[in-house]
Order: sequence, then C-alpha cells, then structure tokens
Amino acid sequence: MKIGFISLGCCKNLVDSEQIMGLLKASGHQIIPDAKQAEAIIINTCGFITSAKEEAINTILEMAEYKEHNCKKLIVTGCLPQRYKEELIKEIPEVDRFISIDEYSHIGEILSEVLQEKVKSVYGKEDRVLSSYPWMAYLKIADGCDNRCSYCAIPLIRGPYRSVEMMDLIKQAELLAKRGVKELILIAQDTTRYGTDNYGKRRLLDLLKELNKIKGFHWIRVLYMYPDEIDDELVMGMKDLEKVLPYFDIPVQHGNDKMLTLMNRRGSKESILRTISLIREHYEMPVLRTTMIVGFPHETEEDFNELLEFVKETKWDRLGAFTYSLEEGTKGYDMDEQIDEEVKEKRLEILMTLQEKIAQENSEKLIGQTLEVLVEKHDSLTHQYKGRSIFSAPDGVDGEVIFNSKESISCGSFVMVKITAAISHDLIGELVSV
Ligand code: SF4
Repeated sequence: MKIGFISLGCCKNLVDSEQIMGLLKASGHQIIPDAKQAEAIIINTCGFITSAKEEAINTILEMAEYKEHNCKKLIVTGCLPQRYKEELIKEIPEVDRFISIDEYSHIGEILSEVLQEKVKSVYGKEDRVLSSYPWMAYLKIADGCDNRCSYCAIPLIRGPYRSVEMMDLIKQAELLAKRGVKELILIAQDTTRYGTDNYGKRRLLDLLKELNKIKGFHWIRVLYMYPDEIDDELVMGMKDLEKVLPYFDIPVQHGNDKMLTLMNRRGSKESILRTISLIREHYEMPVLRTTMIVGFPHETEEDFNELLEFVKETKWDRLGAFTYSLEEGTKGYDMDEQIDEEVKEKRLEILMTLQEKIAQENSEKLIGQTLEVLVEKHDSLTHQYKGRSIFSAPDGVDGEVIFNSKESISCGSFVMVKITAAISHDLIGELVSV
C-alpha cells in the first residue's frame, strides 16, 4: 500500500514517526512523499501548545479533503489523540482511527485492522526510516518527563521519565553508524536526567563515552539539557570525548527568580549563570542555546526587564522564545494574573529584537575563523553549497554556513570553510579544504 506520512512537532515525535514508518516499510508498504498520491495517510501530531494543536488540526482537515479522492484511510497518531482522543473522535469523523501514544506497543495490530493489510507488530524493533538527511539521525534516549514545569503538558501526554536501556541505545547507535550516519543527536525531554530512573543515577556521560567509541560517527550532539544537572564532571567529561560537540542546548525559560519559581523550575538565575560560566571556563568556543517563555502568569514589566538584562549578560549564541500558552491540566492554567495576549506578543518581539542583535554580534566574532562544515545542500546552477558547523543543530533554527565551490563536493561530507561574513545566524565563507 502507498502511504503518505506527515510528521509534525519536535524531533522526539520525528523519531516515533520514523519508527512507525520503519514498521510499515518492513511490512512491505511504500512510504511516498506526496500525500495526494497516497492510498492511506498517517499524520503524527504534536499537542504541546496552542500553535502546535492548531497546526495539527489544520493538517488533519486538509488531509481529510484528499481522502475524498484517492485515499482510502486517514489515521492520526501521537500527542494530539493522546490528549484529546474523545473530542477528536466526535469532531473529526473523517479520521478512520486516532492512535494515542499508549497504544504504540500494539500499533502494528491496529494498523493491520484499519488498513486491512498486514503490518508487523513489534514497534521499535524494525529499522527506522531515516526521514531527514541520511548522514544524521536522532537517538531518543528517554521518553516522558518528571520535571513538572507548571506551564508544560508534556508529563501529562508522555507520562513519567523512562530511560532506554544503555545496551539498547548502543545497538541502535551502531546500526545507525553502519547505515552511514555521521552526526548523532541525543534527545529526550531532559537528556541530563538519563539513567536516574533505571540505573538510580545520572548516566548521560557514561552513555556518551560508549557512543564516542563507535566508528563512523564524526559529531555527537546533545540537546535538551536541564541547567541544574550540568555539573563539572559532565562538562569536563564531555570535553574529553573528541566526537562530542561543545554544543549546550539548555532551555532555561526565564532569568528572574520569581518567574522560575512560579514555573516550578529547579535552580535560580544565579545557578544558571554559574552553569554558563562553568561551560565558558572549560571550552574556548562553546555554543550555548536556550529557549525562553514570555508572558507566564504574574510576569510584570519589571520581571520581563530582568529577563532582558539576563539575556544581555548571558549572550546566548542561539535563543528561541515562545509566548506562554495556556494548557489545561497544568498548574499555570489555574493561576490568576494571566497576561494579555497583546502584551505577550509585544514582549516576545522585544526579546527577539534584542537577541537578533546579540546573535549578529556573536556571529561576527567568527569572521576570520575556519570552521568544519557538514555539507547538506548544493545548487548546481550557482555552485552554492550550504551546510552546518558545530554552531547549528539540524532542527532548522540555528542557521547555515553558505559558501561557493566550483569543485564538486558530495553532500554528507565535511569540509573546512573560512568565515568571511555573518548575517544573524547564517555565516558566509570561502572553502579552504575538502
Ligand atoms: S523539563 Fe519541563 S518543559 Fe521540559 S518537558 Fe519536562 S516538564 Fe516540560
């Protein structure tokens, strides 16, 4: 059967999508890129915040229209049905089956029944379909979350934190390396907590040591680190591992103690500053990325100004921000002093304008340096190449390195590029060596 697969949301959801696609492919079905040509469409959704839910609903409605023509079945999986299954069944009858995350253990049987075609039954045991570039892959080291941040619905959707056994991760990673993956990216809701549930202690560093030994990987990147779990041992240990990049993705959410407490975040502004100093002390050129939330209940102008000062002081290389999204079931939902949407939007704009300036200044410091770049795109007409340096994770927000070369370079290879100009997160350079 020809199946169109649409994966929405974050890279953790993408790994689930790749596993479901792997199951379908191993069962003899064909995953096709154009949903219009598909006999069945599966949409793996995100239900984290309002904008993600809106995107999911719009996609479902759009695909429901296709179903009237060629397509026989429309199936929706993931976070949205996990959270709102009953309502969705009532509101969107065009969907043949909503499959929630807690049904994934027997998703093969459910798909076999809905598609009326055989689908293998053991989720997670077949080779994943790598849906982004073949030289990079995510490795989901845990699912769920125990950090009950008061704005976040993830623990309600994904359940408690569950680390994947280390041996299982090593096997998965070895397979990915054999398939040609050169950049491995570790993800979880909180990667620094890895091992606390099944091994009784934090074991991210032990895992990195094992992954670092695997032949084939050139870069290993870690995303989603919780600030108070980054200690001397982890920073120094990561530094000793040559494949592990000095890339620290630390979503801190705010820079004001009152707001951090209300958000139920562990640690304080001071402790976050200490963590940043620790990293900057040990590495010559670390990459620091974070996310912030503006407009959480009770955030005054003064609190917001403190956040701006914090951002000026910390000078994150990358900073993404969201306006607070009211999510039922979370503590923030019942808080009084909710902030007006217009105020939230204004604060977001001010914060991002400030960050734009900081990002530009940080990027300009790289002019004259030679960076290793993983080549990912090529325009044969203009001879222009695009790739990523250690400064950019592959999730589309960190910018690219752009350079020209008349000499042909294969995508997926590493080259050295001297940086000559910077436009925000994007760097322009000249090829030095292949
Ligand atoms: S750490 Fe906080 S924000 Fe992140 S997934 Fe867990 S509860 Fe949500």
